[in-house]
Formats: sequence, structure tokens, C-alpha cells
Amino acid sequence: MKKYAAIRQQLLIRREALNKRINQLSNSARHIDEPLTADFAEQAVERQNDEVLEALGEAGRQELIQINYALAHLEAGDYGICDSCGATIPPARLEVLPFSDLCVTCAEKQAID
Ligand SMILES: [Zn+2]
Repeated sequence: MKKYAAIRQQLLIRREALNKRINQLSNSARHIDEPLTADFAEQAVERQNDEVLEALGEAGRQELIQINYALAHLEAGDYGICDSCGATIPPARLEVLPFSDLCVTCAEKQAID
């Protein structure tokens, strides 16, 4: 498990940053519950902002799920093993795609399907 220490560290830092960002987003999106501004133009802007914030929050949450998934595999000691064929995923691939749970061959097969 030690050989993935750098990736683990990277995932933990990323998770910390995402948690912070999601907290900030939910703070700035809190006016959703407040009555919308009377001015129509401003209403449209507010709605747009909410949508952007929601999309950002959603992307962050998805990434958080992937990070937690990767970290769970690191803890379990089966990180870096292809979900599909059981082959070892090359560390170079994991450095680029730390959430990858498929080896190159299986990922390419899936991309074609
Ligand atoms: Zn595979």
C-alpha cells in the first residue's frame, strides 16, 4: 500500500479542497430559500447564478464520490487493480487518472462499446 502514498496524499488534499468548495457553494446558494428579487432582470441573473452554483456543486460531489471510492480501495489494499480483468493498473496511469478503476485495455474496450 505504501507505493501509493503519494496518490493517497494527493487524493486527501483534493478531497479537502472539494469539501471547502462545496461548503462555500452551499453558503452562497442559500438565498434560494429567500424570496426572489422583484426586478425581473435581476431574477434572471439570480436564477442563472443558482444554476451555475448547482452545476459546480454537482461536479464537485461527483468527484468527491470518486475520491472516496479510490480512498476506500487504498484502505482495502486493492487499489490499482482493474475492476474488469483484475490486472494491475500501471502507476503512470494512476498518477494521471487517480480514480481509474480499469486498466488501459479494458478502458479502451469500454470506450469502443
Ligand atoms: Zn482490465
